[in-house]
Amino acid sequence: MKVVDCHTHTCFSDGTGTFEENARAAEAVGCSLLVCTDHLTLPSSMDPAGEAQVVEGDLPAHRAAFEEARAAHPGVEMLYGFEADWYPGCEDDVRRWSDGAQVLLGSVHWLGEKDDGAWIDDVSDLTIWLKLGPDEVWRRYVAAWCAACESPLAFDVMAHPDLPARFSHEGFAPSIDLAPLWDEMVACARDTGRRVELSTAALRKGVGDYYPSCGLLERFFAAGVPITVGSDAHRPQDVAYDIEAAYGHAWDVGYRAVEVPRADGGWASMPL
Ligand SMILES: [Zn+2]
Ligand SMILES: [Zn+2]
Repeated sequence: MKVVDCHTHTCFSDGTGTFEENARAAEAVGCSLLVCTDHLTLPSSMDPAGEAQVVEGDLPAHRAAFEEARAAHPGVEMLYGFEADWYPGCEDDVRRWSDGAQVLLGSVHWLGEKDDGAWIDDVSDLTIWLKLGPDEVWRRYVAAWCAACESPLAFDVMAHPDLPARFSHEGFAPSIDLAPLWDEMVACARDTGRRVELSTAALRKGVGDYYPSCGLLERFFAAGVPITVGSDAHRPQDVAYDIEAAYGHAWDVGYRAVEVPRADGGWASMPL
C-alpha cells in the first residue's frame, strides 16, 4: 500500500518548509505521492498581513517552485493543489486564484462574512470563542461547512471536517450533543458527493483523536462517504505523519479503501 499525503503546506503560506524540503522529507519517509495544498489567496480583509496564504503576486513563483521541486524528485509523485477557504461569496475568487490546481481542498476556518468574521483556529486570538461560546461556534461552523459542501466549487475533499474540536481540551468543549450536527454534516457530504479528509493533524495538537473524531468518521463510513488521508503538515518533519496509522484506523472503522488523486484530475480508489 502506498503512503499518500493529500494535505501539506510550505512557507509560501503558513508552513515552514520549502517545496524542496517537503519533497525530500516525503522521500525520506517513503511517501510516494505528495499533494501540495498551500492556503489559497484570501481577500485582504481576512488576512491583511498576507501571513496565512499564498498572496496573489506570489502565485506564479509558487507554481514555479513547485515544478522545480517536482522535477528534482522523480522518486515522489507531486501534485499541485490548494486548500481553499470557503466564505460567503468566495466562488469567483477561489476559481480565479486556484486556476491550474490539480487538487482543491475545501476548508472552513473562517466564520462570518469576509469583511466581518473571524478565524476559529487562531491560537493567538480566540475572541470568537469567548464571544459566541463553543456551542454557537459549532452551530455556525456546521452551517458554513454544509454551505461549503453545497457550493458550486469543485472541492475534491473537505479538509479536517470537525475543526472546532481543536480547542475542546483547552476550555472550549461544547455542552450540546454533537450527534445532530454530525448527522447534518454527513447528510450534506453524502448528498453533494464530497470526499472528506481523515487528518492526522489533530493528533499533533492534543485533540486526542483524528479529524474527524471517531464518532463522526463512523457516520461518514455508514453513509458511504469516501475518505482521503492527509497530515496537514506545516513543517517538513510532519510530512506523511502517522499516515499508515490512519489507514489502520480507517480500516478499524470499516473503510476498505481510501481515495487517491491522479495527475489528470481524476481519482482512484486504493485498497487498504
Ligand atoms: Zn486547514
Ligand atoms: Zn491545511
